Amino acid sequence: SPVLVWFRRDLRLSDHPALHAACATGRPVIPVFIHDDPVARLGAAPKWRLGLGLGTFADSLAEKQSHLILRHGPALETLQKLIKETGAGAVYWSRLYDPDAVARDTEVKETLKEQGIEAKSFGGHLMFEPWTVETKTGGFYKVYTPFWNMVKGRDVEAPLPAPSAIPAPQNWPASDALADWHMGVRMNRGAQIVRPHVRLGEKAAQARLGAFIAQKVDGYDTTRDLPGVDGTSGLSQNLSLGEISPHQCWHAGMRARQEGKTGAETFLKELVWREFAYHLMHHTPRLLTGNWKENWDAFPWRTNPDAPEVIAWKQGRTGIQFVDAAMRELYVTGIMHNRGRMIVASYLTKHLLTHWQIGLKWFEDCLIDWDPASNAMGWQWSAGSGPDATPYFRVFNPVTQLDKFDKNRDYAHRWIAEGRSNPSQDALSYFEAIPRAWGLSPNDAIPAPVVAADEGRKIALNAYENKGF
Ligand code: FAD
Repeated sequence: SPVLVWFRRDLRLSDHPALHAACATGRPVIPVFIHDDPVARLGAAPKWRLGLGLGTFADSLAEKQSHLILRHGPALETLQKLIKETGAGAVYWSRLYDPDAVARDTEVKETLKEQGIEAKSFGGHLMFEPWTVETKTGGFYKVYTPFWNMVKGRDVEAPLPAPSAIPAPQNWPASDALADWHMGVRMNRGAQIVRPHVRLGEKAAQARLGAFIAQKVDGYDTTRDLPGVDGTSGLSQNLSLGEISPHQCWHAGMRARQEGKTGAETFLKELVWREFAYHLMHHTPRLLTGNWKENWDAFPWRTNPDAPEVIAWKQGRTGIQFVDAAMRELYVTGIMHNRGRMIVASYLTKHLLTHWQIGLKWFEDCLIDWDPASNAMGWQWSAGSGPDATPYFRVFNPVTQLDKFDKNRDYAHRWIAEGRSNPSQDALSYFEAIPRAWGLSPNDAIPAPVVAADEGRKIALNAYENKGF
C-alpha cells in the first residue's frame, strides 16, 4: 500500500528524511500538500511566497515522474479521505514546532494510529531537536551563548541525497489546481514588484549556498552588518519553507571553517540563532503571543495600530533615514537586512513606545522569509520583553547606526527617493509598489522626524522607570 508524504514547510527533495524513508520502503509514494487553516491564516507575503514555492516544488517532483497532490481542507479529514481513495497504509511528515502545528500533528498522529495507519514524523527542519538540548540541571536555555556552547561541538547529521527515483502509484489521486488556491490574492504587489527579489526553490537555494561559501563567507563576520552590501547568505526565505535544510548550510559552513574562511564560524552561529528561536518557542510557546517576561505586561505600550506614527513607520515616512530605507526595502523585496530589522524594531518599540506585536504583525504580512520563531524572538529581543533581550534602556540611535554601518549611504540612497535628483530604480519602485491611497510620491518633501533619533533613549527610559522595572 502507498505511503503518503505530507509536505508542509519542507519543499525539497534532498536531505529530506521523511521522503527518504518513504522511498526506502519500496512502496508507492504519494506527495501531498494540504491547504488547511494554518495556510489560510498566513500573512499576505508568506502565503504568496508559499504558492510560488509549491509550484516550483511540484515541477521538481514532476522531473522525477512524481506528482504533488494538492488538497484543501482540515488536515486530518483530508488525509483520511486520501487514505481511503488510495489505500495508503502510512503517512510520513517532517516535524514542525509552533504550537498550532504541534496540536494539529498530534491529533493526526493519534487518530491515524488508532485507525491502524502508520503515522510517523521525522526531523529535518532543525539540526537540534529542542528537547535534546538541556542545561546541566535539566532545564532549557534562555540565553543564546550557553546554548551555542552546548551544541557547537555536536555532530550534525550529514545531509541525505535526493532519492534517485520516487516510486509512483498505479493511479494518481485527483489534485486541486494551484492557481485555484489564489495564494497571492492579498499580495497587491506580488508578481511585478517582489518577484524579482525572490530566490525560488531548492536548486536556486543550493546555487546560492555554493556561491555564498565560495565568495562571501570569508569576511562575513564584518560584511553581515552592512545593509548596503550583499554580504549575507540570503537563504532565510529558503530555510523558512525548507527549500534548503539547515544541515546542508551547516556542513557547507563547517567545510569553509576548515579552510580557514574568517566568517564561517559566525555563519554557523547565525544558523544556531535560528535553532535557539525554535528551542525557545518549543519550551515557551508564549514567545509568539505575549511578553516572554510576564512583568512586561504592565509596560505602557501604545497599542493603536492606526496611530499616525505607526502609519508613518509602516510607510517608511518617519523622517529617519535608516528606518525609512529599511521599511521600504521590506515592502519592495519582502526581505529586510538584519541590521535594518533591529533598527526599525527598536525605533517602533522605544522611540514610538509601540507594542512589539504591532510590528511583528506587519512583518508577518510583509516578509517572504517569515518564520514564526525567528520573527517573535527578534521582536521580543528588540523590545526588551524577551529572553536574552537587549536591555530596554539600550536604545539604538538610528543616526549613529547609519553612520557606522552605512557610511557611504549606499543603503539609504538605494531605498529613499525623496530629496534626490537622480533616485535609484529601487527607490522609485517603492512608489510603484504602494497602494495609491497612501498618496506618496518621490517628489514629496523629506518628512520631519516623527521622533528625533536622539530622543528615543529619554522616552524609553522615562516609560521604563515610571513603571519601576
Ligand atoms: P544570514 O546572515 O546569511 O544567516 C544565515 C541564516 O541564519 C539565516 O538565513 C537565518 O535562518 C539564520 N539567522 C540569522 N540571524 C538570525 C537571527 N537573528 N534569528 C534567527 N535566525 C537567524 N529571520 C527569519 O528567518 N524570519 C523572520 O521572520 C525574522 N524576523 C525577524 C524580526 C526581527 C525584529 C529581527 C531583529 C530579526 C528577524 N529575523 C528573522 C532574523 C534575521 O534578521 C534574518 O534571519 C536574516 O536577516 C536573514 O538574512 P540571511 O538569510 O541573509 O541571513
